[in-house]
Amino acid sequence: MLRLSNVSASYGQVSALKGLDLFIGAGEAVALIGSNGAGKSTTLKVISGLVRPNGGTVEFLGEPITGMRPEQIVERGIIHVPEGRRIFPKLSVEQNLEVGAYSQRAQSRKRTIRDEVYQLFPRLHERRRQMGGSLSGGEQQMLAFGRAMMAQPQLLLLDEPSLGLAPIIVEEVARAIAHFRAGGVTVLLVEQNAELALTIASRGYVLETGTITLSGTSGQLLENPEVWASYLGHE
Ligand code: ATP
Repeated sequence: MLRLSNVSASYGQVSALKGLDLFIGAGEAVALIGSNGAGKSTTLKVISGLVRPNGGTVEFLGEPITGMRPEQIVERGIIHVPEGRRIFPKLSVEQNLEVGAYSQRAQSRKRTIRDEVYQLFPRLHERRRQMGGSLSGGEQQMLAFGRAMMAQPQLLLLDEPSLGLAPIIVEEVARAIAHFRAGGVTVLLVEQNAELALTIASRGYVLETGTITLSGTSGQLLENPEVWASYLGHE
């Protein structure tokens, strides 16, 4: 479904990705793990068109999307939930959800999906008239998910969905991701919390200073001593 081949990207003189290769099949949930500054967020930004790569190709459903504008990529069904949620604080919960359905592809089943979001997150229904900015961190993460659902993604890019959330809310995050997958959505998940990521995903890639150094099934990575030493067993 998605293939990155030999992708490189930089910010001015700072090289963030150096010949990255990555593949995701339809319906898979794949984790991208790595330490701070490894290039995880940049990888997602290259896929969603927020960062233009200076080498390599990105293919989605067999077609090149390298260098396309973010709104063209959204129309193809790739939805990016950035780190730090980025909901609209001055819009109500309901308006935030509406914004998620702005693209043409999302218009048709808007109402049905909004009901589905409210069913999955009753909290959002209770607070639908409240300003986004007045929600707790966990509720804002749910709203960010709800907004992504409204966009009817084929491929969902999640950047650190568990960041700063209490363990009980993290469980809800995992449940929401499972809900997307059950609906046939393919997921690429970036997480500092490698254990969580590899529990949610069935396969993973390890990214170090802009290149993939290791990949395997979640089971293989969870048992790998190098992964254990660098990313697991300590928080
Ligand atoms: P984190 O988990 O800390 O967000 P990350 O793995 O997502 O890390 P990136 O955010 O992709 O890493 O950053 C990769 C490299 O690019 C880092 O060295 C970072 O300092 C640099 N970088 C990221 N964004 C910018 C920017 N807007 N301008 C300049 N350098 C940047």
